[in-house]
Amino acid sequence: MNHSFIINQLGENRGDYQNAVTPPIFQTSNFAYPTVAALKTALDDEIHVPLYTRGNNPTVSILRKKIAALEGADDAIIAGSGMAAISTAVIGSLKTGDHVVCVKNPYTWTDRLLNQLLSRFGISVSMIDGTHTENFEKAMKPATRLFYLESPNSLNFDLQDIAAIVAIARRNNIMTIMDNSYASPINQQPLKMGIDMVVHSASKYLSGHSDVVAGVICGAKERIEPLFAGDFLTLGGIISPNDAWLMLRGLRTLPLRMNHIAETTMKTVNFLDNHPKVEQVIYPFLPSHPQYDLAKRQMRQGSGQFSILLKTKDTQKLEAFCNRLQYFLMAVSWGGFESLIFPVFIKNNSEYPVNLVRFYIGLEDADTLIADLEQALAII
Ligand SMILES: *Cc1c(COP(=O)(O)O)cnc(C)c1O
Repeated sequence: MNHSFIINQLGENRGDYQNAVTPPIFQTSNFAYPTVAALKTALDDEIHVPLYTRGNNPTVSILRKKIAALEGADDAIIAGSGMAAISTAVIGSLKTGDHVVCVKNPYTWTDRLLNQLLSRFGISVSMIDGTHTENFEKAMKPATRLFYLESPNSLNFDLQDIAAIVAIARRNNIMTIMDNSYASPINQQPLKMGIDMVVHSASKYLSGHSDVVAGVICGAKERIEPLFAGDFLTLGGIISPNDAWLMLRGLRTLPLRMNHIAETTMKTVNFLDNHPKVEQVIYPFLPSHPQYDLAKRQMRQGSGQFSILLKTKDTQKLEAFCNRLQYFLMAVSWGGFESLIFPVFIKNNSEYPVNLVRFYIGLEDADTLIADLEQALAII
């Protein structure tokens, strides 16, 4: 299935809703059936038939089909946030006594899930440097059930060699979950490299307009169906029909956005890389990135996030640089239409150098962003 078919046609049975071009928002919690037999059928097949919106809702189902197809999955679960998706996928794969190997410095709340919440239920975790594949093998224990990956990571842009790690996992009967938010399914398809379940913060690229918080889980039918009928319905972290509709609207332009962002980010990155006030640019698609060859092998093109090290450690100057930018809004998150800057030193995390600044490139044109950076860099 190509992107045009998935985005414009798949799942859209327009004859079912008065030939409306865009699907309706089925803003209903409940679905009624005319006979006991029909109600029983719905109850027995909640993953396919609308019974109650915590399970299945027609607006959400259209989205589910499109997301699964974009990732090359049989099926998907749409959740109320990236963390609802990640928590459901991870909790659904583990039990007391299990051990997880996770890449170090994952998304903050993924770290909390593994190291704080799950540790209360007797699940242990080893955090490793995932840039060296052998670290997965070294951290493995007899109780290891899950490898958790994030490639690239969305702060320091470390990658993992997906195919090599999958081979280790398969040899040892270990399940793999990967957060693919950074790349989006347009730029990387981990299921095709053998990952068992892919999770996303759909608040980022999949929605793409900074107006929805949502998440997705994608995988084979044999994994998604039991997860849906089991822990997803139990944990209840669903998306609202209204937000599912907004996500459908965002998806219409996903490939266009990703292609535009790849181009403008590369231009911006090249400008910064050659700028005398910039010590280093950290971006997987820059030939100086230590994992450039791996990035080219696993990913179709770059996405819109990168970090730089500025040539000053004076936090007053760093602050002045950030404050001076006009187009780059100062905020957390990323993946929307608007370019962003996040000075990492405000997190007081000694793991990162003070002069590390993260950028997200939105949908503005490169020349506008470069001119903005040029005037702000003058202060350093
Ligand atoms: C934002 C983010 C999440 C969490 O998603 P929410 O939708 O905010 O819950 C998970 N992983 C990555 C890489 C993220 O950037």
